[in-house]
Amino acid sequence: MKVLVAEDDVTSRFMLQSLLQKWGYEVLTAADGDEAWHILTGEEAPKLAIIDWLMSGLEGPEICRRLREREQTKGNSIYTYLIMLTVRDEKKHILTGLEAGADDYITKPFDAQELHLRVGAGKRIVDLQEALRFHADHDTLTGLLNRRAVFEHLEIEIARSEREDHPLSIALLDLDHFKQVNDTYGHLIGDEVLRDASSRIVQQVRRYDVVGRYGGEEFLLILPGASRDEAFKIAERVREKIVSCPFSSGEIFLSASLGVALYNKASSVDEFIFAADTALYRAKKNGRNQTSF
Ligand code: GH3
Ligand code: MG
Ligand code: MG
Ligand code: MG
Repeated sequence: MKVLVAEDDVTSRFMLQSLLQKWGYEVLTAADGDEAWHILTGEEAPKLAIIDWLMSGLEGPEICRRLREREQTKGNSIYTYLIMLTVRDEKKHILTGLEAGADDYITKPFDAQELHLRVGAGKRIVDLQEALRFHADHDTLTGLLNRRAVFEHLEIEIARSEREDHPLSIALLDLDHFKQVNDTYGHLIGDEVLRDASSRIVQQVRRYDVVGRYGGEEFLLILPGASRDEAFKIAERVREKIVSCPFSSGEIFLSASLGVALYNKASSVDEFIFAADTALYRAKKNGRNQTSF
């Protein structure tokens, strides 16, 4: 787990860093408040931070306040567990720190064992938050992103493609005649087939593509950077992987239909999905087991 140590005093910063590394944390350091703020609000920010009270630039309590404000306004942002580091062990200072939004505090000079335990308590909260978040975003049967989360990713990718001016495609996949699998083999086998189909899809997409379970036996593939032709190729690769070998110990043969759409700047998320859905409908209508756009 990543931990930020924001401390302007070199000796103290180095000590904290080496102790935390010894306990297995990956440590990022900041020598002043502005640098700390930059790291805490950047991409892949650590979710646990030890922040000195007095630093040049933003001071510890101000960082806490701003971060909490940001968490409130940016609805979906992750909570950062903040431990304030201070020589001020007077009660009123401690209260000010906690009021600013710190979760805990450590007074300098610190006791290594106490630090270890307090950081460990923070880690438990961060781990718990991540587990809850995972369950909120993922489908329990397949482990893929659920419908809500995959929509969120789609919005992020649309914004990114506009910012960076690269193409963005999606593919909507629907398993063909899946109801027959349930009707013939039962729901449990149906579930097993859905899990297997999910992993086949994930295996065939690129590392930075995103796959979500859009509905019962429907999946949404987000393909950043892919032109319509490239998206079509990926979709066909996925389809072939589904038809190429039977499911569930060799008894069940399945196919899939896919609809591909390329993002067009003027359109909304709903229109984008609708375009893929229309293409999927065409694939079904033209005999299934094919990709259409
Ligand atoms: P089509 O080729 O037109 O898509 O036919 P289909 O049978 O796949 O489509 P239909 O929409 O008629 O049926 C979808 C089936 O998927 C019905 C539903 O019971 C099944 N299904 C949806 N979610 C799950 C699930 O979580 N587990 C199982 N076992 N079946 C599911
Ligand atoms: Mg200081
Ligand atoms: Mg369907
Ligand atoms: Mg279907």
